[in-house]
Amino acid sequence: MSRLIHSFLMAGALSLAACGSKEAPKPEPKIETPKEEPEDLGSLVSVKKLTDGVWIHTSSKALPGAGVLPSNGLAVADGDGLILVDTAWGELATQELAKKLKKETGKDITKVVITHFHYDRLAGVDWLEDQGATVYTHPDTPGLSLPLGTPVPNTTVPELSEIGARTNIGPIEISFPGPAHTSDNLMVWVKEPKLLFGGCAVRADHHKSLGNLAHADLSNWGKSIAWAKTTYGDARMVVPSHGNPAGAELLVHTMALVEKTVKETKD
Ligand SMILES: [Zn+2]
Repeated sequence: MSRLIHSFLMAGALSLAACGSKEAPKPEPKIETPKEEPEDLGSLVSVKKLTDGVWIHTSSKALPGAGVLPSNGLAVADGDGLILVDTAWGELATQELAKKLKKETGKDITKVVITHFHYDRLAGVDWLEDQGATVYTHPDTPGLSLPLGTPVPNTTVPELSEIGARTNIGPIEISFPGPAHTSDNLMVWVKEPKLLFGGCAVRADHHKSLGNLAHADLSNWGKSIAWAKTTYGDARMVVPSHGNPAGAELLVHTMALVEKTVKETKD
């Protein structure tokens, strides 16, 4: 998308957001849609600024039968440090990510949120803990990752076991919308720019299916997305784990995919 079209769309979104409100809308920070850059190909991980104090990181893996799959996470400025939302897809990629973030922001990763127990979310968590970062995750995540032989986070947030629980960590809110892609999937709300990281519970607009259902809870996925729509419906950007960020319409799109998949499994 060109910068011009993007600016036009954002202007439209802002004017729509103002409809029905008697108060003048508060100016909101600009959020940039990341652009693909050919020089990133061949790199383990890329970092792109989304808005002031928020970056998206993307790493890729070639999967048999699925081609090259990109995987996203965030980095959010938190005082002198950074909160990393999910690691890169590999320990070496996570080490490269930390270096790139230091170069881009001048800050080190001090906190890490792991949004569920799969490898694309937590591959570098052992190394980050060794570097002194504090890890936040659902209380079930260590027990779920252990049998898979993946790194196991050492710390959790006990209160996130309750569906609808929300925990504040500086500029972000971590929430547990309920089971979806996995039973432990968390979401992260970056408060100031109103940006939602939906993780693997949210699908990108080009996705025609819900993706990997190996550990999914189809009977509750819709309820969890409905909770996210109610709670974060004013999101100005929604970032899925795989694919391009877009607006809150990704929650509507995901809900339609859930309903379609539930129907297909019943037929
Ligand atoms: Zn997953």
